[in-house]
Amino acid sequence: MLKKQNFKGKTELVANWDTLQRIFIRPENEEVRATLVKYMEQILFGLHDFLMKNVGITEEASLKELSDRFRDSRINRNPSKKLADVIKGIIENIAPHAVNVASPYFIGHMTSAIPFFMVHLQTIVAALNQNPVKLETSKVVSILERQVLAKIHRIIYDKNDVFYEEHIQRPGSTLGSFVEDGTLANLTAIWVARNIFFKPLSGFAGVEKEGLAVAYQAYDIERCVVLVSQLAHYSLRKSGGVLGIGNENILPVDVDSSNRMNMGKLQTAIRNLQKGPGPKTRILAVVGIAGTTETGTVDPLPEIAEICAENGIHFHADAAWGGPVLLSKKYRSLLSGTEQADSVTIDGHKQFYMPMSCGMIYFKDPHIMDTVAYHAAYINRPGSVDLGIRSLVGSRAAMSLILGSALEIMGARGYALLIDHGIETAHAFAEEIEARPLFELVTSPQLNILTYRIFPEDIKREWNKADCQKKKTLLAGLNNINITVQRLQREAGKSFVSRTTLKRRGCEDMVVLRVVIMNPMTTIDIIGEILDEQEDIYHRQFMCAQG
Ligand SMILES: *Cc1c(COP(=O)(O)O)cnc(C)c1O
Repeated sequence: MLKKQNFKGKTELVANWDTLQRIFIRPENEEVRATLVKYMEQILFGLHDFLMKNVGITEEASLKELSDRFRDSRINRNPSKKLADVIKGIIENIAPHAVNVASPYFIGHMTSAIPFFMVHLQTIVAALNQNPVKLETSKVVSILERQVLAKIHRIIYDKNDVFYEEHIQRPGSTLGSFVEDGTLANLTAIWVARNIFFKPLSGFAGVEKEGLAVAYQAYDIERCVVLVSQLAHYSLRKSGGVLGIGNENILPVDVDSSNRMNMGKLQTAIRNLQKGPGPKTRILAVVGIAGTTETGTVDPLPEIAEICAENGIHFHADAAWGGPVLLSKKYRSLLSGTEQADSVTIDGHKQFYMPMSCGMIYFKDPHIMDTVAYHAAYINRPGSVDLGIRSLVGSRAAMSLILGSALEIMGARGYALLIDHGIETAHAFAEEIEARPLFELVTSPQLNILTYRIFPEDIKREWNKADCQKKKTLLAGLNNINITVQRLQREAGKSFVSRTTLKRRGCEDMVVLRVVIMNPMTTIDIIGEILDEQEDIYHRQFMCAQG
């Protein structure tokens, strides 16, 4: 921790009360100022130099090799490193084996470069160390958080000034809630939907108090389900598990040929579940997705809203990915219908370009979260302003400070430019794929995600005259090609495209390459290079072997 000269002139690190006093942030201490600045420079310049030198995605080191380096589970009795050495160690030994997600060649996942000011804002959050769980540990930060929640609520629901004037700072109203990530935002939505459905009756105190077994009896049902698109994020199945509904009761509804939830199938499913034979079933919620994780498609949200309204079912929109598209004048209509959802998930660490991690859940009705309110004697007393009263999480970082500041720095227009670039580059990518005979576009981009695969022309010709059995064999071969090329490209470490397996009812599983365009530095030229590399790998790997 801190050095101490010992008698042989060697320095030794010690932990004692004296040294401890020197490592805490202490406003009255002038030395602290200098220390803060000094190490920030080391970190920022060190990491910057690292990113400049290592333009590739990740350095070659096998997982086996890496895990061998991290096997010691004992904690040192005495301090073994100074901060400067720890920082140096991270920059030299950890960063090169982490993933350079800032690279414009990294286009496989929903994680990318972030604006540099996010690093500064994140530092402020750590330095202030506010805890928005309660007013006593955050004060103005909780009030600011309510403002940020209202701003995002407004881009979703666009209620009038009177509405926001009334609810923005009213302790009894909840426009939304910050959680860790999209998974917890979705969980919160289903939690609320479950509690609304199983509300108290005479002789029944509600599901939150009495549990599902009693709730089923009170409501005379045997099962409840949530209907989701076949392409729904797996976090929804976790909600089924955690909330006691059972993850098998998160029922997938088939998608149509453009990967959007099929409305005919949704209506049939609702009819069959409500009236059909089998266990007495009720539908807690229907989830429509605004930007599916795998293909970026947007479900027919207005139609889902209408069907939910007719049947009195909670409509949740999972806009974890797509939400910020609402800031783009050009493309916000792609998300129309979101404003009709009872609840909406949005992730800050995705298209708001925030550092990991920030999930948010929003509600149309500012009182619906009363069904999940909790109080404790030492904090969160009834009637208080504490944000922890209606929140799945307890202590947490003040990520609203980052989002609120980012909205000021970027403006809606700044974010719109990023969104528009992503969508338009994805469309250019799709055109590039269609222009190259080796590839086949599998799902064209509705937003900024697309999937495609390598489908060599000779195999295409065979495919066109193949029978069912032969097609199975060909598909297995194609899947193998795509898996191999994706892996070899990743291992080469210059570019990264991800892969997934698309499953459709009645069809064999199809392996596809998946692209997410969110880095504004990813240009069409870079895309060309990435595709060239895939063509090279394919020819080296599969053509030489044959010829
Ligand atoms: C990313 C994502 C989630 C889950 O979000 P996490 O922040 O990774 O927990 C849920 N739904 C959709 C559509 C997503 O894209």
